[in-house]
Amino acid sequence: MRIFDPHIHMTSRTTDDYTRMAAAGVRAVVEPAFWLGQPRTNPGSFTDYFDSLIGWEPYRAAQFGIVHHATIALNPKEANDPRCRPVLDLLPRYLDKDRVVAVGEIGYDSMTPEEDDAFERQLALAVEHDLPALVHTPHRDKARGTRRTLEVVAASGIAPERVAVDHLNEVTVGLVRDSGCWMGFSIYPETKMSPPRMVQILKQYGLDRMLVNSAADWGVSDPLLTLETGTAMLAAGFTDDDVDRVLWRNPVEFYGQSGRLDLTPAVTGEPTFAGSSIKRGGS
Ligand SMILES: [Zn+2]
Repeated sequence: MRIFDPHIHMTSRTTDDYTRMAAAGVRAVVEPAFWLGQPRTNPGSFTDYFDSLIGWEPYRAAQFGIVHHATIALNPKEANDPRCRPVLDLLPRYLDKDRVVAVGEIGYDSMTPEEDDAFERQLALAVEHDLPALVHTPHRDKARGTRRTLEVVAASGIAPERVAVDHLNEVTVGLVRDSGCWMGFSIYPETKMSPPRMVQILKQYGLDRMLVNSAADWGVSDPLLTLETGTAMLAAGFTDDDVDRVLWRNPVEFYGQSGRLDLTPAVTGEPTFAGSSIKRGGS
C-alpha cells in the first residue's frame, strides 16, 4: 500500500513517527500551516514557522524517504488576533515557493467577522497565485459552518475542484459533494471520524474527490490511521486499486493542480534555508 497523507502536522511529531510512517508505506505528506497551540504574538513568529515548513521539515522527512510539501496560510483561529493579522500581507512571498502546493488551512473556527475577512482574502490569494485551497471546517456547529464555508467559496470565484473542504463527517459530506469541492476526512483515534465510519462513507458516496488524512498534530492523533483506513477498506471488499486511488492517486490529483507537486524521493542533502546554513546534530 502506498500512502500520501494530504494533511498532517509533522512539526508536532517525532522521528519515531517518521520511522513508523515510512514502514507503513507513507511516501508523501502535505503539511498545512496551522495553530501551534501556544498563541503567536507577531508576524515574525509565523514567518519563522513557514520557513520551517518549506525548509527544515522537508529535509527531516527526506531522511525517512518521505516527500514533504506544505500549504501556507493564516489559520482561522489566529485570524481573530490583531497581532497576527499582518501576516496576511506577507503570504504572497510564500505562495510563490516551489514546495507550497495550496493556500491553507483557511476557513472558520468560531465564524467571526475577522475570520470572514481572512477567509475571503486568502481565497482571493489562491485565485491570484493559481493555487488550490485547503479549507478547515469548524469542530463546533459543523453543519452551519460547512454551509457558510461553501457559500464563501462559491462567492470567491475559485473553481470548486480546486478546493478541499476538510474535517467532514456523515452530516457534512453530502453538502460538500454537491458543491463540486473535494471532500477531506480526518481520521482520529478518539473523536471525529474512525476507519469503520470512513469505510461506510466511501461505500455510500464513492471514491471520487475523496481525501483521507490523519491530521496528526500535537493532540491525541495517530499518523497511521490512513493505513488503518486502507486496511479497513480491503476488509470491507474494496480492491487494492480502490485503496490506491483514495490513499495515493486522489491526493496526487488534488495537489497536482498546483503544478508544483514533485514526488521524486528527495536527496537528503543540506536543507535549503533562505539566507544562512544551520549547524545540525549537536546540542
Ligand atoms: Zn490541520
